[in-house]
Amino acid sequence: MTKIQPQPGILDIAPYVGGQSKIDGVTEVVKLSSNENPFGPSDKAIEAFRRAGHDLHRYPGTDHRALREAIGDVHALDPARIICGVGSDEIITFLCQAYAGPGDEVIHTEHGFSMYRISTLAAGATPVQVPETDRVVDVDAILAGCTDRTRLVFIANPGNPTGTMVSERELRRLARSLPERALLVLDGAYAEFVDGFDGGAALVKPRGNVVMTRTFSKLYGLGGLRVGWGYGPTDVIDALNRIRGPFNLSEPQLATAEAALRDRAFAQKCFSENARLRVWLRDALIEQGLEVDESHANFVLARFADAAEAEACDEFLKSQGLLVRRVGGYGFPNALRITVGDESGCRRVVHAIGQFKGVGG
Ligand SMILES: *Cc1c(COP(=O)(O)O)cnc(C)c1O
Repeated sequence: MTKIQPQPGILDIAPYVGGQSKIDGVTEVVKLSSNENPFGPSDKAIEAFRRAGHDLHRYPGTDHRALREAIGDVHALDPARIICGVGSDEIITFLCQAYAGPGDEVIHTEHGFSMYRISTLAAGATPVQVPETDRVVDVDAILAGCTDRTRLVFIANPGNPTGTMVSERELRRLARSLPERALLVLDGAYAEFVDGFDGGAALVKPRGNVVMTRTFSKLYGLGGLRVGWGYGPTDVIDALNRIRGPFNLSEPQLATAEAALRDRAFAQKCFSENARLRVWLRDALIEQGLEVDESHANFVLARFADAAEAEACDEFLKSQGLLVRRVGGYGFPNALRITVGDESGCRRVVHAIGQFKGVGG
């Protein structure tokens, strides 16, 4: 027997399972399982990616200045308080590594994103799960879960896989009431899909205990590129930068993300199409007898009568070349999460569910 063992917590991590992307024997798959942009990336982003290929022999810059300045321009934020990472996943990892260790607690909510727990365990800290109320983050439940060991509180707003939101007023109350040594992390992976929403940036500014994370993976259609960012108090950003590898982002990543961000017309088109089809998709699913909350993101959570029906529907969708996401691991064994596709993707999934239900087909 080997005496070589990983650090405590590591073997408690259940490996992350991504959305399925292939079905055996089916060539034309409609992938609605990973909240990807059905329109792909902007042409300008693709062009920037190609151009950057010519300089692959060069090491990238280490301070990400051009990208941070572009983010600062578009979101009216101070570039000095922005850090860029390999997806927002890396920012989440940095936060856990920098602020939580053995003996410390990290709060995530009942239906929260699975990376919070993974990164907490990887840092040797203890994940603490608190309940939500009717699939919405419950600030009082979070406060009840806080102890003097709490170091981080993770909230996705809008939530994944719920698509629901918690109000800025509630979040302000939470930030004000947290234990002194705890940092509130607002994960804004889907903030771009909410009209006029700043992702929580206004809460970061006046306080010392709030951080916001954002990503290029969703609205910008760059999940494969791996770029995200965080915005927070100067001392937090400084701490995260100390553990960030100097070359964590390559020049193709930096240049492509910047071009995507600067292409406002494409971003606007993706935003409006999603907003329109998200409502259409929800209404159509409700008409099929499913329960669906209003979503503020680029997916809807469709709730079935029970787990058996959700599973059977998932199997039927697969047989039709449609991939959606099972979310039993997020506390919803009776539900499927369906990404808002393009118009044809949305129509196909609704049609297939209608056939499954025996009403629309
Ligand atoms: C998709 C997603 C992210 C983004 O992850 P990246 O590492 O930036 O691709 C972060 N948080 C939530 C809740 C997500 O659903």
